[in-house]
Amino acid sequence: MRKNIVAGNWKMNLNFEEGVSLFSEIVNMVKDEVIGKQEVIVCSPFIHLNTISKLADTANNVSIGAQNIHQAESGAYTGEISASQAKSVGAEYVILGHSERRAYFGETDAILAEKVDAALKNSLFPIFCIGETKDERESGRFFDVIKSQLEKGVFHLDAEHFGKLILAYEPVWAIGTGLTASPEQAQEVHAFIRQVLADKYGADVAENTTILYGGSCNPSNAATLFSQKDIDGGLIGGASLKSRDFLEIVKTFNS
Ligand code: PEP
Repeated sequence: MRKNIVAGNWKMNLNFEEGVSLFSEIVNMVKDEVIGKQEVIVCSPFIHLNTISKLADTANNVSIGAQNIHQAESGAYTGEISASQAKSVGAEYVILGHSERRAYFGETDAILAEKVDAALKNSLFPIFCIGETKDERESGRFFDVIKSQLEKGVFHLDAEHFGKLILAYEPVWAIGTGLTASPEQAQEVHAFIRQVLADKYGADVAENTTILYGGSCNPSNAATLFSQKDIDGGLIGGASLKSRDFLEIVKTFNS
């Protein structure tokens, strides 16, 4: 079922103590201030997961996720973490296909397809990111790029497995840059994604897929972005590191 979700991506920020403290603040603020049914997911570095999973508040829809997994189940992959390991410390979600992983760590569509499978096999729900670079936007190729990322990364799934995914449209030129897609630009792409899903899996699956927007989302622009028909919430980087900013974004769905 399509849901309203605000997910935070802490990236490689916060030491152990800082992360636990921020997560506790978020849990308390959600308990005190959130009156809607929106869901909150915090994707922390691996070091925090085991501890914050014990503070997560399922009654108030606050859960946690990882930011990456390796595609193999186990083995000689020094420094990597498998889906089952992330799951064993309480992760329920995992961000896959983030543009930083695609760009800096060579994650191809083919690798991402394997990671999606590994996540689902271990009951981790992927938050699968897609989005175009600045060049791809300016040359008008962005629809093709996004469609291809979906086709190569997740369209090998049958409808039942696809239904476990959350998608995040994250224009690369808007991530961490302070540049945000306008609500119209974001809505145009979200509607396009839903159409591509409808063509592949049918109208019901398309209608029930949660599609988040990510890219310099903040307390001032969240309401206009999230009020677009096909935008179901946000994947938040920088603004998820400040509890008050993050909560204000979450509270966009209070009314
Ligand atoms: C992200 O990295 O997923 C992201 C959306 O970052 P920011 O909000 O900082 O642009």
